[in-house]
Amino acid sequence: MRILIVEDEFNLADVISSRLRKENYEVDISLDGEDGLYKALTNIYDLIVLDLMLPKKNGFEILSEIKANNIESKVIILTARSEINDKLEGFSDGANDYLTKPFHLEELIARINVQLRHKDNNLNSNILEFGDLTLNLKNTKLLCTTTNESIEVICKEFLLLEYLMKNSNQIIPKEVLYDKIWGLENDSMSNNLEAYLSFIRKKIKVIGSKVNIKAIRGLGYKLEVSDEKNKN
Ligand code: CA
Repeated sequence: MRILIVEDEFNLADVISSRLRKENYEVDISLDGEDGLYKALTNIYDLIVLDLMLPKKNGFEILSEIKANNIESKVIILTARSEINDKLEGFSDGANDYLTKPFHLEELIARINVQLRHKDNNLNSNILEFGDLTLNLKNTKLLCTTTNESIEVICKEFLLLEYLMKNSNQIIPKEVLYDKIWGLENDSMSNNLEAYLSFIRKKIKVIGSKVNIKAIRGLGYKLEVSDEKNKN
């Protein structure tokens, strides 16, 4: 899952993002309100951590634009106590949660996890299942329940598989996978979707699972359980 931190104190943004990456979130940072709004409106974030006092555009303006554009991201406001007393009413209907500075990093992480669990509507969201595969979101281990063998999936492989498993009831267009996994990164690696998918297919095979990532020409990708009958 992908999180945006809009925070002009670079050191704070850096500390939060490092911690979130350890939780296997993808994290982008905006150091001013204009860039924050631009990124927020791409609608690729599951959650936005939003400071209020920001250069160029303040957090309230960003929040109201997020609402006006029907952006689905959850929003946690992160702000100094003095600001919150004045403005509590102003954002009570827009933000999902707020935390006043100074705060404990672990409390922010816990609140983020709670918001994203709600979003999943699944209390046991540390484990994803499809066919005979289970993906542990905490330790990024992929387990095949038929063979009881497991393998680690990391970085983009993990994010891709997580997204495919969470949305296993639908065909996912290639463009959506690019946006969700690579976001606004614009390096040459972002053209390697097929390569990453084939790495994942190999890993799934290595642990003996029947699950396959099916490419549907012109439409996208979908997880499926291979039909044994077709093999004979
Ligand atoms: Ca600030």
